[in-house]
Amino acid sequence: MNLPSNLLPAYSLSQRNTLGFEVEAEFAIHITEAKQIAETLVYAKDHNMPYQVLGGGSNVVLPSALPGLTLLMDIAGIEIVSEDANGVSLKVGAGVSWHSLVIWTLEHSYPGLENLALIPGTVGAAPIQNIGAYGVEINDYINSVEAFDSQAMQWITLDRAHCQFSYRHSLFKANPLRYIISAVNLYLPKQWQPRISYVDLQHFFAGKENDSITPLAIFEAVCEIRTQKLPDPKQIGNVGSFFQNPIVENSMLAKLKQRHPAIVAYPEDTNHSKLAAGWLIDHCGFKGLRTGNVGVHDKQALVLIHHGGGNANELLQLAERIQKTISEQFEIDLQVEPIIFNA
Ligand code: FAD
Ligand code: NAP
Repeated sequence: MNLPSNLLPAYSLSQRNTLGFEVEAEFAIHITEAKQIAETLVYAKDHNMPYQVLGGGSNVVLPSALPGLTLLMDIAGIEIVSEDANGVSLKVGAGVSWHSLVIWTLEHSYPGLENLALIPGTVGAAPIQNIGAYGVEINDYINSVEAFDSQAMQWITLDRAHCQFSYRHSLFKANPLRYIISAVNLYLPKQWQPRISYVDLQHFFAGKENDSITPLAIFEAVCEIRTQKLPDPKQIGNVGSFFQNPIVENSMLAKLKQRHPAIVAYPEDTNHSKLAAGWLIDHCGFKGLRTGNVGVHDKQALVLIHHGGGNANELLQLAERIQKTISEQFEIDLQVEPIIFNA
């Protein structure tokens, strides 16, 4: 097989997954321009090679060997498409780091993304699970998503309504590998309201003058809170929350509350509530546990960690053990949030 010169054989992804697992891609390719996506997928199809897509590797569990082609999404660029008194439209390349985009918007006096500060990963991956934190989701700001549809083998632009965004979910997550995102188009309105309903932010701003609660102040607060509470992937491997917060019917919550009065839950809609999965895991005694090379973070039980020298199997065994216990204790099936890649 004649390989294009930009395919990198036996490429180490150890620095490109925040769990810090030792991973080798059979072939990797840096995607720095949108047109390369189509070319690479045609090549993969012609040569009957499997492929996968990687942003910053902060929401994936990778096996030690990834067969076929791994597309490393490195498309740069933040472009102001239009701006008026009401808001600004931006086109952002899939490979731009999410946190650097948040900083860029605040430096240009475009507020809105401050609650989403310090989320690792790339802009292209943000729509996949509709990233969210402190009561804000990226879909609030998405105008459209530009992608190559690997099924139809054509470029498409999906407007927000077609992206089927919901809680940590989207059309993209429901159809793995079908849509390779090249750019995300955002609209940031200039009218701004602080969103500080989460208790950590309330505490942070307690007693402060309203005038001091600016987008930049919220950005700094979020960075400070997250730095204290979450493990830094550079120090200790993790992918953030390992399980989604389960959404249950209110009747189920009422039943659970009888047995566990301290259970933590938030209203989701009129008939449903969201349970804090971290509380469930903590309640079952997993917080701070270490087993072999993996464990559960001691400040947030929703975060599974890798101490070094471990692998996906070890981590997934711990995840299964937690799921089994939660199912037995609460009759709730915890869903894994990150994407598990097959070997
Ligand atoms: P990757 O992990 O590389 O990929 C994730 C998935 O998206 C994979 O299926 C991959 O194939 C696909 N993908 C990536 N790029 C593209 C593309 N261009 N086109 C098509 N598919 C693509 N998430 C939250 O929602 N909120 C948080 O507050 C949050 N906090 C976190 C904190 C920490 C410490 C960590 C480690 C993770 C956290 N996460 C959070 C999870 C993660 O950061 C996000 O899901 C992020 O969007 C993943 O981006 P990524 O570029 O690393 O994606
Ligand atoms: P937290 O504030 O301790 O809250 C625990 C859980 O309760 C969160 O998961 C959150 O749900 C929910 N919650 C808290 N206050 C709420 C409110 N006022 N209304 C509705 N739901 C509320 O959580 P944390 O661990 O410190 O994380 C802070 C934020 O960062 C959260 O939004 C969390 O989702 C986000 N985060 C996400 C990841 C990830 O990988 N997905 C990793 C770290 C942090 P929600 O999760 O729905 O917000």
